[in-house]
Amino acid sequence: MTKHIFVTGGVVSSLGKGLTSASIGMLLEQRGLRVRMQKLDPYINVDPGTMSPYQHGEVYVLDDGSETDLDLGHYERFTSGRLTRDCNYTTGQIYLSVIEKERKGQFLGKTVQVIPHITNEIKSVISRMGGDDVDVVITEIGGTVGDIESLPFLEAIRQFSLDAGRENCLYMHLTLVPYLKAADELKTKPTQHSVGQLREIGIQPDVLVCRCEHSISRDDREKIALFCNVPVEAVIEEKDKDFSIYEVPLSLVDNKLDQLVVDKLNLTSAKNLDITAWNDLLHRLRNPRHEVSIAVVGKYAEHKDAYKSIYEAIDHAGIHHQAQIRIGRIQSADIEREGAERLLSGYDGVLVPGGFGERGIEGKVQAIRFARERGIPFLGICLGMQCAVIEYGRNVMKLDDAHSSEFDKDTEHPVICLLDEQQNVTQMGGTMRLGSQPARLDRHSLAGKAYDADTVDERHRHRYEFNNQYRQQFETNGMRFAGTSPDGGLVEIVEVPDHPWFVAVQFHPEFKSKPLKSHPLFAGFVGATINRRTRRGSESTNQPPQEQIS
Ligand code: GLN
Repeated sequence: MTKHIFVTGGVVSSLGKGLTSASIGMLLEQRGLRVRMQKLDPYINVDPGTMSPYQHGEVYVLDDGSETDLDLGHYERFTSGRLTRDCNYTTGQIYLSVIEKERKGQFLGKTVQVIPHITNEIKSVISRMGGDDVDVVITEIGGTVGDIESLPFLEAIRQFSLDAGRENCLYMHLTLVPYLKAADELKTKPTQHSVGQLREIGIQPDVLVCRCEHSISRDDREKIALFCNVPVEAVIEEKDKDFSIYEVPLSLVDNKLDQLVVDKLNLTSAKNLDITAWNDLLHRLRNPRHEVSIAVVGKYAEHKDAYKSIYEAIDHAGIHHQAQIRIGRIQSADIEREGAERLLSGYDGVLVPGGFGERGIEGKVQAIRFARERGIPFLGICLGMQCAVIEYGRNVMKLDDAHSSEFDKDTEHPVICLLDEQQNVTQMGGTMRLGSQPARLDRHSLAGKAYDADTVDERHRHRYEFNNQYRQQFETNGMRFAGTSPDGGLVEIVEVPDHPWFVAVQFHPEFKSKPLKSHPLFAGFVGATINRRTRRGSESTNQPPQEQIS
């Protein structure tokens, strides 16, 4: 029988519920349990696909093409549980499905209401996650307890234990225990109030995970336990980690959270914990043998979550090579104003990520030209590949107004254009080339060598493609088409051969990178930056400016 863990958050947003949920999932997997993870988001958009990265950070794409919350990225990086469309629901999706049923007459003339119809729908999407092959489902509820919009979700998870059995459900509440400098004290009142709100709805949490900057004393834990009606062993400290997010699971183990969950849910098949690989990972992070810097040139560079999986994938490659990587987040529009030379000199690698919209495109093209002409390792992703093609067309092939028809409909040279089947799409959301698709590789290319495979499956999220009318011309002028769709019809990877490492891909490799298994392209890219740094040796006094580094 599948057991359920529900993770809620209190006091403030941004407590790192996603990371904590993923860490618990990882620890349970390491104890031999089969885990699936789910996120329920209270906002009304049907999915985050149509939301600006400023609002919501990155849109994380799954194999099945669903566009999901970035927390699913944490889940996938930390656990191996299968992630599908069912793993992320929003209020919008829940209502959409209830309204569709109402229109089909499935409620037999009844008044359709939040309770029971919306809550039943929520309970059914949670139940669907369970099954014979799943020991534990972890469902994270987005938002903060006390928000009006999360109420139906909280009511649904309360009811869930009535059907599934209270002993088969565990409610975990993530809360904040702030430190007041003036009083030189940790404050437990916000936690008491937040748990009070949960109890008003009828949920008595079983475990409190307390985010804090300073350690919580035994006295304070006892106080929280007493006021919140939980045993003191169930008040778990989760102190801020300033070194790495990969310390989070280990600190939860130190505080015996995995054992607590196993005991409370009576998970009799759980084995002893083995986290050797994870300890090794932290050892590699703490003892770097190389140091390199990489510039990520994007439209949303100032927003730290907009390219979340890209930054993570770079870190994974750093772990792989035992390299400390300093990432500079560069606004592509700043390159247009200040020039690539000024902003990019000193970096060992340049990465241009995906994106939509015209702002900053010329800055990306300039950054790519700089990397290509100076022999700086370059990785282009999705829009980054499209800009690399535009740059090559303009500056190598002298097709002066080479462009993407996304940005200039009347360009004489639409080297990137819309596929015929995308021409008549008018609805937003879920209408792109989405999800996992195979690519056939040229084994002699950089990508072919990095993957060491003939075909790979990678995730897509785009409308525009390389325009095949130009393929011959680009090839004649030296560009290598290192990967295509299996029928050869779509360009997936381009490379510039007379360059130390210049690879650009139409898909998103960052979504498939894991901390213990760096993605081959990121590993190849970072390897090339290390080679460049080694070659330049001590002559490289030219460091990127500190203020760009995060
Ligand atoms: N805007 C481009 C397209 O739709 C690239 C999308 C992306 O980078 N994800 O094709």
